[in-house]
Amino acid sequence: MNPALDDAIRQRGKAFFASIRGESPSIFNKGFWTGKVMDWAMRNEAFKVQLFRFVDVLPYLTTSGNLSRHIEEYFTGGEAGDIPAVLKWGAEKSGMFGGVAAKLMGKAIRSNIEGMARQFIVGEQTREAVKNLSKIRKDGFAFTVDLLGEATVSEIESDAYRDGYLEVLDAIAAEQASWKPFGAATDGLDWGSAPKVNASIKPSALFSQARPMDFEGSVEGILARLRPVYCKVMAMGGALCIDMEQLKYKDITIELFRRLRAEPEFRDYPHLSIVLQAYLRDTEHDAAALIAWGRAEGLPFGIRLVKGAYWDYETVIAKQMGWPVPVWTRKPESDIAHEKIARLILENSDLVYFQCASHNIRTISNVMETAAQLGVPENRYEFQALYGMAEPVRKGLLKVAGRVRLYCPYGELLPGMAYLVRRLLENTANESFLRLSFADGEAEDILLENPQKTLERELAKAPARATAATAPVDGLTAFRDEPLADFTVEALRGAFPEAIAAVRAKAGRELPLWIGGKAVATADRIPTVNPADPTEVLAQVCQAGTAEVDAAIAAAETAFAAWRDKAPRERAEVLLRAAAIARRDIVALSAAQVLEVGKQWDQAYNDVGEAIDFLEYYAREAVRLGTPRRMGREPGEKNHLFYEGKGVTAVIAPWNFPLAISVGMTAAAIVTGNTVVYKPSGLASLVGHGLVDIFREAGLPDGVFNYCPGRGSVMGDHLVAHPKVSTIAFTGSMETGLRIQEKAAKVHPGQAYCKKVIAEMGGKNAIIVDDDADLDEAILGVVYSAFGFQGQKCSACSRVIVVDSIYDKFITRLTEACASLKIGPAEDPENGMGPVVDASQQAKVGQYLEIARKEGQVLVERQASGQGYYAPLVVVAGIRPEHRLAQEEVFGPILAVMKAASFDEAIAWAMSTPFALTGGVYSRSPRHLEKARKEFRVGNLYLNRNCVGAMVGRQPFGGSRMSGVGSKAGGPDYLLQFVDPRVVTENTIRRGFTPIDEDDEWFD
Ligand SMILES: Cc1cc2nc3c(=O)[nH]c(=O)nc-3n(C[C@H](O)[C@H](O)[C@H](O)COP(=O)(O)OP(=O)(O)OC[C@H]3O[C@@H](n4cnc5c(N)ncnc54)[C@H](O)[C@@H]3O)c2cc1C
Repeated sequence: MNPALDDAIRQRGKAFFASIRGESPSIFNKGFWTGKVMDWAMRNEAFKVQLFRFVDVLPYLTTSGNLSRHIEEYFTGGEAGDIPAVLKWGAEKSGMFGGVAAKLMGKAIRSNIEGMARQFIVGEQTREAVKNLSKIRKDGFAFTVDLLGEATVSEIESDAYRDGYLEVLDAIAAEQASWKPFGAATDGLDWGSAPKVNASIKPSALFSQARPMDFEGSVEGILARLRPVYCKVMAMGGALCIDMEQLKYKDITIELFRRLRAEPEFRDYPHLSIVLQAYLRDTEHDAAALIAWGRAEGLPFGIRLVKGAYWDYETVIAKQMGWPVPVWTRKPESDIAHEKIARLILENSDLVYFQCASHNIRTISNVMETAAQLGVPENRYEFQALYGMAEPVRKGLLKVAGRVRLYCPYGELLPGMAYLVRRLLENTANESFLRLSFADGEAEDILLENPQKTLERELAKAPARATAATAPVDGLTAFRDEPLADFTVEALRGAFPEAIAAVRAKAGRELPLWIGGKAVATADRIPTVNPADPTEVLAQVCQAGTAEVDAAIAAAETAFAAWRDKAPRERAEVLLRAAAIARRDIVALSAAQVLEVGKQWDQAYNDVGEAIDFLEYYAREAVRLGTPRRMGREPGEKNHLFYEGKGVTAVIAPWNFPLAISVGMTAAAIVTGNTVVYKPSGLASLVGHGLVDIFREAGLPDGVFNYCPGRGSVMGDHLVAHPKVSTIAFTGSMETGLRIQEKAAKVHPGQAYCKKVIAEMGGKNAIIVDDDADLDEAILGVVYSAFGFQGQKCSACSRVIVVDSIYDKFITRLTEACASLKIGPAEDPENGMGPVVDASQQAKVGQYLEIARKEGQVLVERQASGQGYYAPLVVVAGIRPEHRLAQEEVFGPILAVMKAASFDEAIAWAMSTPFALTGGVYSRSPRHLEKARKEFRVGNLYLNRNCVGAMVGRQPFGGSRMSGVGSKAGGPDYLLQFVDPRVVTENTIRRGFTPIDEDDEWFD
């Protein structure tokens, strides 16, 4: 930046500060309850966490008992540490006496927090909001009105969101004639450029099914509800700004903005704006592209430039998903980006009406001085601030610039609390300009410094923090999960239809067995088909009979000794090569699943990702376990414990995670020195054949892996009972798992092993929804867990146990959300649910629907049309623990709803089946979560999230009781099941002479 401009910006900033000297935003005013509490929160991180979480749950605490309990749970002792007297007193009283004092204190705390929320909201009702908007205008500020409640989980809620806008616009229309425009112009516009009526809207709320995977459907779904709102805005001569939300909606938002702006009906109306977030690394590029588009189309428009409100979310989610972090990670970088992009927009002020939304005096001063330097007419840019925040800044702005618009949320307190939490976070963040200026008293020179300089200073002070990573093992980098599917990437969205077409292009081909490194064709074949259209044959799969099974076991036995004796690292290398191949082919492998088992794109992609994770994880685990371990330290004696493969492993895989589980069980067996006869499910043999391709290319020696699809009735028992099979790794139904264990227990002539059975079986998984659960999250989590991949995951939620007091609210929203899911072929990304895997699954769901009708009240029954194996989506209420629907695994899209009197009863009901696989709890009660940890005894318990999608290495997966025998897949104990531990002891004393080694226990 040129030094003269930078100088001017700092001078401007100083004058700005001088003009507001002595003033402070009300949220930092320590003369009031809010200021005191905020002050404490900024000095005590643990308290801040508790406080913000408490604010978040507060609207759900509708009884005084519940309120007192939560105050006590959140604010007494524990991590919150010291607490300000005002809260502490209340909390202790509520804990100790539980009487009148507690009630009063609870009431006082509630009303203080609600007051805090109201400070940021122009009104809960339309009339009140419009009245306040008039008042805001009287004070000289323009407004943009925003309706709270953006978390819509169903189409009914999206309709209501749209209607809310139409309603408030109508109310404003009735008022606006009485508002005099600001400035001297006579065209009815504020400052001669801006409509008096201005609305801001969160696009994702307008279409509950919006998601990046369904890009086109999302854009059109949102537009369908946005058009009537924009029509009304235009009819009123107003302006509309499309807010920017999380990154996942960014490209959808930009696309729908362009379409709306260019529609014939709206082309000649320029008052449409979009928000861009400077904290995103891509925003400079997006801004340039939008400007180029506007020029090419001859369409003027507006941009509101913000830094961005979701920084914490974007960074954490990117880390969890394994995606590159999309935002700048040093605060001055966002400031620099804002300044750069502001200049770009101001340089194009003939086309773009600029809205600078910031409370940062340096950022604002930069816009003022850059605009002055570029000679931008005043009526081509304005300043914006959030209602209820940064009062001195907005006052100062009004004095200096005159053109200030306040962003005014209105609506109910429930979504208002979520908004309050965001604002509190923003105000109290360590890096927040407001906090630094008005609470921490940072020097003006630092606050107004060129952010480029600040960045250099920061970089010199603190070099980038190295992230904590597990130490590398034997030269291998630490394990990391494969990134989950990111459909914001256009190339990935585009790759799926192509890959699906490529699977189709090879449809009907013959898939031979693979035995001892040779393809073996058999006369007995079974077609494998697309469940969305069973007439579509994907492949003809050769079937193994007992003779082929014998041949495969013989080949595996022959290959065993040499493979066992290879160094663990050498075996691990094969897995690592296999992982690289699967990674390269990830979309092609996913496409096969979409067509063969009806998995949605994202679920199929993540299944292949999980297969890669197993390969990478077990490779490292095998190297770790492969180093012989010295036991004891006594001199004269060397004891070494080491592990050895057992022999031939039968891998019997399911169809629901056709690649991941197949690869997981197979990789575990082979990397530990065993050889494998692999029987894929008859419903997923095409996907299963992928293992042949992967392991061949990875250079696995012949005979170590043998592909043997076959009819269970013909060769299943034969494989299990075969005397040369030492281990059986199985995943599937409880019935088959129990049968395998029974068969494997019997010793046959020629058998030299007690067979080991590792069996992952079924579940009857429950999610508990507590009375204080965040329903926005709980509904989405339950719907995804119950109906994603048609409820055919062993981890799927098949019971939701809802605590009585929240039951009605939950049920209404759940049924509406279920009614909003689109059902159809998985290859079309707009469908949230597809066909079940085959006719027998379809029939089974039908039978359980009949049982549901008898045992409870069917609340939702959605039949899908089409010739595929579509089973109805069913939600049935009134189910009790003794009902079959509460006990038996259906493995389909049937959700049983149970109403429990209390959280304790909910836990007892959750534990009332013989299964113990997964479970979930949505609760914001620390005590209830703690109770669930102890008493909800399942293999994988998920607190405040969905109950599916365990990640290798992070959430080792597997259950106990009737859900399985064996240790957790993707965890540190899994490989131990495939090996025999051996110990060799050597006496190193020869005639009393004993070499003393460094690791011997010896005298000092
Ligand atoms: C009128 C108005 C409308 C708005 N509309 C939207 C909208 O549609 N979408 C939206 O996302 N936000 C929106 N916001 C919120 C806005 O993003 C925040 O208010 C803004 O980021 C705060 O920036 P600031 O310049 O006022 O404060 P500053 O304190 O200067 O900046 C704080 C911001 O810096 C960024 N930041 C913080 N830490 C780091 C870090 N370590 N590395 C990099 N960057 C960091 C974050 O974006 C943070 O919000 C709007 C704000 C206003 C005033």
